[in-house]
Amino acid sequence: MIIVVRDEDASKENLRILHELGHVFLHSMCIGFYQMDDVVVRKKEREAQTFATLVLFPSLDNFETEKEFILRSGLPEQTAKLRINFFRKTGI
Ligand SMILES: [Zn+2]
Repeated sequence: MIIVVRDEDASKENLRILHELGHVFLHSMCIGFYQMDDVVVRKKEREAQTFATLVLFPSLDNFETEKEFILRSGLPEQTAKLRINFFRKTGI
């Protein structure tokens, strides 16, 4: 079950929901999430957040530059940078 606190900003709410779905899709086999060390937890949080950005922005073709994506995507800057890093690593 995913519980998300409602937000007047629908884009933030969507990002939170997709983040949690990312955990379900990527980490559902992980049990004892609370027992992991901080490094592993941060990695899994980045993965879930990156998943959310990929659903929201499956392509970056509509953006000329990384800075434009950061400014126009509506994502928090650190989250936008996760999507950019995924593009840098994969070309997707
Ligand atoms: Zn999370």
